[in-house]
Amino acid sequence: MMKFHRYLHSLLIASCILFVTGFARGQGNLQDVELTIVPVAGNVYMVQRPGGGGNIGVFAGPEGVLLVDSLFAPMSDKLVAAVKQVSDEEIRFLINTHIHIDHVGGNENLAELGVLIFAHDNTRLRFLEERSRFPRAGGSFVPQQPAAARPVVSFNDTISFHLNGEQVQAFLAPPAHTDGDTFVYFPESDVLHLGDVYRTTSYPIIDQYNGGTLRGTIAALDKAIDIAGPETKIIPGHGLEVVGREELIEFRSMILDIQGQVLSMIQQGKKLAEVMAARPTAAYDAKWTDDPGWTPEDFVPIVYYELGGSGRLLDR
Ligand SMILES: [Zn+2]
Repeated sequence: MMKFHRYLHSLLIASCILFVTGFARGQGNLQDVELTIVPVAGNVYMVQRPGGGGNIGVFAGPEGVLLVDSLFAPMSDKLVAAVKQVSDEEIRFLINTHIHIDHVGGNENLAELGVLIFAHDNTRLRFLEERSRFPRAGGSFVPQQPAAARPVVSFNDTISFHLNGEQVQAFLAPPAHTDGDTFVYFPESDVLHLGDVYRTTSYPIIDQYNGGTLRGTIAALDKAIDIAGPETKIIPGHGLEVVGREELIEFRSMILDIQGQVLSMIQQGKKLAEVMAARPTAAYDAKWTDDPGWTPEDFVPIVYYELGGSGRLLDR
């Protein structure tokens, strides 16, 4: 039994190393990545890396800076330098939109600078898990963040910041990408940061290992569309463009169409292989497959099983 455990353990470490090196290779050398800061609207800016992954929201004013997400740890110096281009004020607060490492990796470094970290209760609980699971590659593990990276303040529904003459609202979205998805809304600047619930690069990543669901994805998009006005600027978790309400509606329509097609095939008794062969995403693949790590082969089975298709995804 012990031998088997040891075998499992070494297998796990090996797959972790493979994943992390593969991940790093895919991202290039994280330390050498150039970050850019661009204005979004009002007092809100966005820090981006090439390819647009883990977009950071930056809310800056005379009373200090509030960040939304923290990228990867090796990028922290560059993140702070990018913020300095628009503000000399102290970075005081950080809100994590969810648990994934490309959004919380810089937490520990920022905490060392005295930044106070906020997240939803569910996201904070994910920091306490022994390992952190990542939805790509069939649910790979990454090492857990150190204790110093954990949110210091967690909230169970919504929290407001009163800073720089504006109110910043952070609140739990329905369980879409994960079960701790937090939207951050800047009503005066008219900007909405949706974390990874919305991305311009791929089909929605529904991380079932961290509580994400299709039903929640649609409900979360409903909520975002409801909040957004005609001029609201939307920061996606991934992707280089800031978008508006219309793009969110288009994204939701695409998901609803695929959901409808898959559901009718399930009602006809089709197996997953038959559904995949029918290519329910065919009309959208040209636009939504910019991310090689999340393809219809990842997305459609999640839709199929959540809608009641036979078999269970997690048993594969
Ligand atoms: Zn994510």
